[in-house]
Amino acid sequence: MSAIVVVGGQWGDEGKGKITDYLAQRADLIVRYQGGNNAGHTVVVDGAEYKLHLLPSGILHSNKTCIIASGVVIDPFTLAEEIRGLERQGLTTANLVISPLAHLVLPYHLELDSLEESRRGPRALGTTRRGIGPAYQDKTARTGLRVADLFDLDRLAIKLAEAVAEKAAIIRNVYGSDAPEALDIAYLGRRLREIAEVLRPYLADTSAVIDAALREGKRVLFEGAQGTLLDLDFGTYPYVTSSHPTAGGACIGAGVGPTRIDSVLGVVKAYTSRVGDGPFPTELAGKLGQYIRDKGHEYGTTTGRPRRCGWLDLVLVKYAARINGMDYLALTKLDTLAELPEVYLCTGYELDGEEIDDVPLDPADLERCVPRYVKLEGWPALEGVRAYEELPSAARRYIELIEDFVGVEVCMVSVGREREATIIRRELL
Ligand code: GDP
Repeated sequence: MSAIVVVGGQWGDEGKGKITDYLAQRADLIVRYQGGNNAGHTVVVDGAEYKLHLLPSGILHSNKTCIIASGVVIDPFTLAEEIRGLERQGLTTANLVISPLAHLVLPYHLELDSLEESRRGPRALGTTRRGIGPAYQDKTARTGLRVADLFDLDRLAIKLAEAVAEKAAIIRNVYGSDAPEALDIAYLGRRLREIAEVLRPYLADTSAVIDAALREGKRVLFEGAQGTLLDLDFGTYPYVTSSHPTAGGACIGAGVGPTRIDSVLGVVKAYTSRVGDGPFPTELAGKLGQYIRDKGHEYGTTTGRPRRCGWLDLVLVKYAARINGMDYLALTKLDTLAELPEVYLCTGYELDGEEIDDVPLDPADLERCVPRYVKLEGWPALEGVRAYEELPSAARRYIELIEDFVGVEVCMVSVGREREATIIRRELL
C-alpha cells in the first residue's frame, strides 16, 4: 500500500505522534493536511528532544520529504522558529516543502482567539488561543492572507491594510480592547518581509509533489492532527476545531483525490480523554478518572491543563470508523489501564429511557446519554511485552471485543512511550 491516512479516532491526544513516527520510518513522504501549531508532539531521537508543532514528524529524517499542504494554517513566525531550532540542533530542513496556498495565522488572529475565549467565559471552547480558528474564519470569509501573498509586496501591503483595518474595528469596538503590536501595519509588514525570505526556499506546488510521488510508487503518509470528534462537521459542535481532522480532510487539505488513498488507520487510545467542555458520556469524574489522568499523564502539553478522562467509548469509535472509513485501528496506551481489577467498555447508550447504539446527531442529546457498559477483567502490567501472544489473555480479550464491536482490525498495539513498546500485528506501508 502506498498512501495511508492516519487519523485520531477520538478527541485528539490519542498518541498519533508515536504511531506516525513508527510509520514514518517506512514512508517516503509525510504530509500534514489540516490544523496549525495547535497540534504537535515531542520526538526523542538518540536522546535529543525535538518539539514539533507545524513540521511533520518525518522532518528528522533527511531522506524523507515533509509537506505542509494547503489545508494547514501557518503561523509563519512559529514555523520560522521551528526551522531555526532544528538548524541550531544541526539538522537540515532541506526536505521540507510548503504550499503557497496555505493560509497565514497572523498576530491579530491570536489576539482575537484570546479575546473571544475570554468573552465566552464559562462557555469557552477550550481553544489553544493560537489563532487557528480566526485564521480559518478569514479563509472561509475569503479575506485571509496566504503564504504566496508574502512574495508580492504590493498585494501584501493592500491585503494587510484591509485585514488590519477590519481586525482593529473588531478588537476595539466589539471587545473594547486594543493590540498595538498586532495592529501595527508597518511593523507587521516589516516582519513578514523578513519571514518571507526564511520560507522562500521551501515553496512548491505540494499537490503536484504528492501526485508525482504516488505515480512513482512512493509511500505517502498523511498525518492528521486532533481527532474525529473535533471535526468541524462531524464532531461535537461547537466544541470542535475549525478544520477537518478526518480522512476526507486529507483529500481536501492536500489536494489529492480520494481514489489515491489506499487505507485509513484510526488511532484510538485504550480509554477516552478530552480537553475543555462538551459532551463526554463515559467521563469518570471521581478518583478513577484522576488515577487514569495521572497514570496516563493526561495534562495539556503547553497549558498543563488536566484532560477529562473516562472509559473507552466504542460507540464513538465505531462512529469515527464510519466517518473515516477506517481500515485498521492502532490501539495506544493499553499499559495505562493495566493493574486495574476490572475495566469497562461502553457499547451503547440510554437516551431518555431508550437504548441506542449510535451517536445521536445532536451533541445536546449526546450530553444526556448514559453509557451502557460491558465489564471485563483487568490485566497485569505490560512491561516488556512486545508480541501479541505475550499479552495477558484479559488484555487480548479487551482488544478482540473492540475489533468485534467496531468491525475493524487492530493492527498495532502500543504498550509504552518508547518506539519499541509497539506490537505490530500487521505492517502497513
Ligand atoms: P497526539 O496528540 O495524538 O499526537 O498524541 P501524542 O503523540 O502527543 O501522545 C500523547 C502522549 O502519550 C505522548 O506523551 C506519548 O509519548 C504518550 N504515549 C503514546 N503512546 C503511548 C503508550 O502506548 N503508552 C504510554 N504510556 N504512553 C504513550
